[in-house]
Amino acid sequence: MKKFAVLTSGGDAPGMNAAVRAAVRKSIYHQAKIYGIRHGFLGLVQGELFPMKLSSVADIIHRGGTVLQTARSPEFLTEEGQKKAINFLQKEKIEGLVVIGGDGSFRGAQVLQKAGIATVGVPGTIDNDIPITDYTIGFDTAVNTVTDAINKVRDTATSHERIFIIEVMGRNSGQIALHAGLAGGAESIVIPETPFNLEEVCNRLMRGVKRGKLHSVILVAEGAGGGIYVGDEIKRVTRQEVRVMILGHLQRGGTPTAFDRILASRMGAKAIDLLLEDNSGQAIVSRNGRIEAVPYDELFARKKEFSWDDYHLASILAI
Ligand code: ATP
Repeated sequence: MKKFAVLTSGGDAPGMNAAVRAAVRKSIYHQAKIYGIRHGFLGLVQGELFPMKLSSVADIIHRGGTVLQTARSPEFLTEEGQKKAINFLQKEKIEGLVVIGGDGSFRGAQVLQKAGIATVGVPGTIDNDIPITDYTIGFDTAVNTVTDAINKVRDTATSHERIFIIEVMGRNSGQIALHAGLAGGAESIVIPETPFNLEEVCNRLMRGVKRGKLHSVILVAEGAGGGIYVGDEIKRVTRQEVRVMILGHLQRGGTPTAFDRILASRMGAKAIDLLLEDNSGQAIVSRNGRIEAVPYDELFARKKEFSWDDYHLASILAI
């Protein structure tokens, strides 16, 4: 009987549970043993392993967060920590590990792979900042959460005829800002991928004010200077009343959308297929609607594609 394990690592993302469920049930379907590891790589260092059965993942497909808990583990970044993790996995005779997380977690998975432990990465992060894959698990839910927030802010923005700046997550990535901005009809989108053009944002705002627009919503990714900075600058130049709202961690929470649950189910199951085929050392991606696998090195060599077409479209539609 094959012996696999699954962990979640890095920031939690809605849909991680659906991926854990898929990995567990697919393993059991193929008569493999499957174990859960709590607290990501920290759990490997500390030896937090427990057997999982069909009922271990009952009633979790619709729940946000991760039932396996997650962590960022500085200890696992050290050679000593990695040795502990490797020894633990070898002692427990784990023949394959599914790592659900972001790009940092994939780097960790690659360390284990190089030490002879079969791993497969499943992209679970709200940021959608992993190259090659069109979507990561949790992104769609986060975009819907932000879009909902924009809808609500529009009501008050319109009533008070105010400019609202909404700061969304994305330290290095404007994906959430772009998609939610497009979905929510934001006037401007400020992202880390391109320098903040204060003049253009203010001109656009003032054009709107002049033609009697009752509200304006500007989306700012946290990595693009942050909402407070952008808000202060806009206030200074336009002398309009500006309100800043930082959405923060609520973007991570909530029940995953159907899209994320389906993506997570497909990816979690595919990870087990790869382990069963002895085809590890790869990350699962969704490319043009197909679930595929890409070797870690190939993934790390690529940059996340940014849809400038969508960025320009958002700007045209908010004319
Ligand atoms: P998110 O996109 O949500 O931030 P992430 O997986 O990128 O998720 P990180 O904090 O970067 O989150 O990484 C999670 C964990 O993976 C780290 O705490 C660390 O234990 C491990 N890790 C990150 N980078 C490396 C690396 N270069 N080598 C080994 N392990 C790493």
